[in-house]
Amino acid sequence: MKWRRDWFEWEKPIVEEFLKLIQGCIMRIDAHDQLVWAGVIHGEYKVREAYNTLVKAVGGKNNEVFEKLWRSKGPPTAQLCAWRVLHSRVTTQDMLHNRGIPINNFNCIFCNSCEETVNHVFFSCKKTSSIWKLCDKWVGVQNVHHNEAHSHCLGFKLAGLGGKHNGVWRMVWMSIIWNIWKHKNDTIFKKIRSVTC
Ligand SMILES: [Zn+2]
Repeated sequence: MKWRRDWFEWEKPIVEEFLKLIQGCIMRIDAHDQLVWAGVIHGEYKVREAYNTLVKAVGGKNNEVFEKLWRSKGPPTAQLCAWRVLHSRVTTQDMLHNRGIPINNFNCIFCNSCEETVNHVFFSCKKTSSIWKLCDKWVGVQNVHHNEAHSHCLGFKLAGLGGKHNGVWRMVWMSIIWNIWKHKNDTIFKKIRSVTC
């Protein structure tokens, strides 16, 4: 292969990478160039294939909790909110602090006695944990809930129920998460006081 000019020093690793990429490709003068999705053999781009490729690229696997989340029949807004909680992508005091935003009070908006983290706000806070206990009471079970989002979600199931019915039960989980989030925002922006459980 012959290039029209010499490479700058900073371009050399890119050229090397490019040459590795096309190694083994056969050039054909009778064929038209076309874009193909390299993630799959047939070359056709699909969002699901792209998602799987990205998950593999970061060394992860298609996590069970997300499979259940996306298969759920819950409203997309609640699904998205749950996804953000599972990825710790909701705004809490500790997150704002980590982003360099000055924080005067690190305490939880609901109980004002513990540091506000995602896991605290949604699961271990005395205000919100009482909601999960009420769910148990509602269906007559006694459960020990985890204080971490993934484990909490996976543990929120009813023994003796099949996958379909537990899928419905998981919609309750998403709805509670969504409503805690909405109530948190109302407490901050509309100054609505927290309900004592
Ligand atoms: Zn709290």
